[in-house]
Amino acid sequence: MEKLIACCGLDCATCDARIATISDDDELRSQTAEKWKVQHKAQGITPEMINCTGCREAGVKFGHCSQCEIRNCVKSNGFKTCADCDKLETCSLLENLHQYVPEALANLKSLN
Ligand code: SF4
Ligand code: SF4
Repeated sequence: MEKLIACCGLDCATCDARIATISDDDELRSQTAEKWKVQHKAQGITPEMINCTGCREAGVKFGHCSQCEIRNCVKSNGFKTCADCDKLETCSLLENLHQYVPEALANLKSLN
């Protein structure tokens, strides 16, 4: 499957929010909301909020992703992703994410 690498390195192509949005799948929206409530300790997530076409794609964004500090930083620097930044391996904004999802860092490195 073609990857859609987000600013932070996550692969939006495999994200359930994007898959549910592209296929307009309400059942997957409900399942994703339930899963993300637990994963992100965010009880306020509802199925209606699960709409996103991807970090760097045109169209609707999941609420958090539209306000994401990493995404905002990439955009304000005029980069495509954090792979374009010389702080890629030292950035405090990326540290937690890349600790828990090392594939995201690998995805960014594969772009260079
Ligand atoms: S930007 Fe959208 S598709 Fe990409 S990881 Fe975030 S919610 Fe998923
Ligand atoms: S400082 Fe660089 S590596 Fe950190 S979030 Fe901004 S663009 Fe990404």
